[in-house]
Amino acid sequence: MSKSIVSIAKGDDPEKMVEQALDLLGGVQSLIKKESTVVLKPNAGHPGPAETSINTNPAFVSAVIKTIQKANPKKIIVAEAAAIGCDTMECLEASGIKQAAIDAGVDDFRDIKSDKDLIKIPIRDARSAVQKVLLPRFLVEAEHLVNLPIFKSHCSMVFTCALKNMKGVVQDKVHYQMHQTNLAEAMMDIWSVIKADLNIVDMIRPAEGFGPHFTMPTDFGCVLAGKDPVAVDATACRLTGLDLGIVPYFGPANERGLGSFKEDEIEIRGLEKIRRVFWFPYLEGFDKYPEYTIDTTGACSSCLALVGLTMEKLKSLNQYDANSDVTILVGRKKEIPEGIPPEKLILIGDCLKKFKKKGLYVEGCPPGEPAPHWAIVDRMTAEGIDISDPEIFNIVRGRMEEEAFPFIEHMIKLKEEHDKQHGNK
Ligand code: SF4
Repeated sequence: MSKSIVSIAKGDDPEKMVEQALDLLGGVQSLIKKESTVVLKPNAGHPGPAETSINTNPAFVSAVIKTIQKANPKKIIVAEAAAIGCDTMECLEASGIKQAAIDAGVDDFRDIKSDKDLIKIPIRDARSAVQKVLLPRFLVEAEHLVNLPIFKSHCSMVFTCALKNMKGVVQDKVHYQMHQTNLAEAMMDIWSVIKADLNIVDMIRPAEGFGPHFTMPTDFGCVLAGKDPVAVDATACRLTGLDLGIVPYFGPANERGLGSFKEDEIEIRGLEKIRRVFWFPYLEGFDKYPEYTIDTTGACSSCLALVGLTMEKLKSLNQYDANSDVTILVGRKKEIPEGIPPEKLILIGDCLKKFKKKGLYVEGCPPGEPAPHWAIVDRMTAEGIDISDPEIFNIVRGRMEEEAFPFIEHMIKLKEEHDKQHGNK
């Protein structure tokens, strides 16, 4: 069996790094056909500026466009479907990607969310509730789809990189549906009908911390590339000290034939010894919250991460002591403790749906980011809330913004402690 190749380029000039990463794969001319249409899919899901590392870095996108132009394609298009409730063109503008791409000579931008020329594609052997998807014709018919994720921590999926970035090729309806079902399997369902043929990862200033919203960018000066998205993501994890065993989607991705994550099935080309133990704070365990009763047996990392974030949110907003009377349950269980008043029992995630009448149920698999925190503080269930409704979205966004500042201050202190402990500079 031939190995999946992943190239790694290190430096401080994005153009040189992208070119070197592609040279290590055989050169841009061997990867991109002359006179082809190339669609670039960055991560531009939220309206955050470049310095936050919430989105793919604009200088990196510019470097990719300039490098791909050397293969003489017919057209280069930047396309994205921003997160639910976010405007794609606003995100491309706020992130700096739009101007950087124009300056580099991009031919077009497309907002996948508002595209009307769609092709309905059934997902055969779907393993999630997503049974079909509507995809823009231009995306399906392009000769090349080049995935341009940024590597960043992600509280509900551990991290986001090549595999997860392709979630942004669907419109809001399917996107919402993906969050109501098993997200890891839904991501693989999407990959089963549309694949990026090349993945180039922005690890110039990837983000640690409580991503995707509360990121802590870190200088890493690195670009990764490869055709196999699983191998690319697995390599990014190894470079950042992340244990692959806790990532919920390597197994499903491998089973679906999307690629390899095992070390002996991947050939690394370029620099290997770039390693820094990234801070994924939501994976640090729950012993540090002895005041709370938290039962996480049967939970996967997505929900564990969410509970970790929830506990730190409570601390940062001085809500920790006042709510320590709750019992938090997460993960698949055959039975739950009896005799706890419903307003003191927090049931997080679809695994516990069958017990929802016994406590405050937070729906989703995994649930959305602020929902468990607000269920505890407000003592309310979180079910059937459609954040694609603009009015609800604005209420949610407003509250998240209000809570952001104290949480960021709290996060900075925790990150300093982590860096000291791991000797990170
Ligand atoms: S609801 Fe269950 S399966 Fe879904 S992410 Fe949470 S623990 Fe995992």
